[in-house]
Amino acid sequence: MNKYLKTTLIAAALTVISNAAMADAKNPKIGFSIDDLRVERWARDRDFFTAAAEKLGAKVYVQSADASEQRQISQIENLISRGVDAIVIVPFNATVLNNAVKEAKKAGIKVLSYDRLILNADIDAYISFDNEKVGEMQAEGVLKAQPKGNYYLLGGSPTDNNAKMLREGQLKILKPSIDKGDIKIVGQQWVKDWSPTEALTIVENALTANNNKIDAIVASNDGTAGGAIQALAAQKMAGKVPVSGQDADLAAVKRVVAGTQVMTVYKPLKLIASEAAKLTVQLVRNEKPDYNSQYDNGIKKVDTVLLKPTTLTKDNVGLLVQDGFYTQAQISGK
Ligand code: BGC
Repeated sequence: MNKYLKTTLIAAALTVISNAAMADAKNPKIGFSIDDLRVERWARDRDFFTAAAEKLGAKVYVQSADASEQRQISQIENLISRGVDAIVIVPFNATVLNNAVKEAKKAGIKVLSYDRLILNADIDAYISFDNEKVGEMQAEGVLKAQPKGNYYLLGGSPTDNNAKMLREGQLKILKPSIDKGDIKIVGQQWVKDWSPTEALTIVENALTANNNKIDAIVASNDGTAGGAIQALAAQKMAGKVPVSGQDADLAAVKRVVAGTQVMTVYKPLKLIASEAAKLTVQLVRNEKPDYNSQYDNGIKKVDTVLLKPTTLTKDNVGLLVQDGFYTQAQISGK
């Protein structure tokens, strides 16, 4: 091949490559790997995220692992081979994604942890609501309603790092009352997969073991709170024993209004989803995002965008309507 032809060919190839790179940055392809789309909040996260990302010119490929770590790993591998520019992950199991993340990074893909922190892996960024603060709000809500007595702690999934952070926040608030002897922790359990039916069984057993002498339940989300309240209702104790939650699931908001759940935590999903979409596109475009925190995930300090949760009780459920999270008809509907 003569020298001129060679130079022309190289120049042409470089143009193709840089055009491809530019096209990627302009219209990034984003994989969204979600633990479990069968759960109410994650389906809303998906919708808000996809809408926000599309507005920014991106295309989103969504996968649901349906609470299986193996399925999540294969789905991430599949997204890598599709040539996405970024993968946003809501991990089912925080500790098993190290290799999948390594493969993604090797392929030049940005990896973000959404809502739940992926541990021991070289992720690029994390975005979440302040989970320790959510735990504090849950304990505060229950403690205000029941400052003394026997407490049961209903934790989240043992595979979810948030469950641990929530518990830390809860104990921070409860500790002074435990130390004073005002409250006694009569039992605590992690709830596998955050399953409401598992929570129901756990609370049924706890009631039996304690002759129904449970005065308060610090539940870590609305799904598990629902299971706990069902167990209380069977003993005619619903509404007498304060139970916390989080997510402002519609059923939980109705329970808060009815008085069987003392509080929930409102985390505006549109906010986290649209901030996450912005963050992802910025990373693909090599722009500098605005972080406001850092979390150690075992191997690095991960740059983090941390958002503020809001306590929701009977007194301020109106906020959900103002914010467009629900209509009044949805909240008052049967
Ligand atoms: C989330 C909660 C959710 C729970 C179960 C947690 O990691 O922060 O909002 O209720 O997972 O899906």
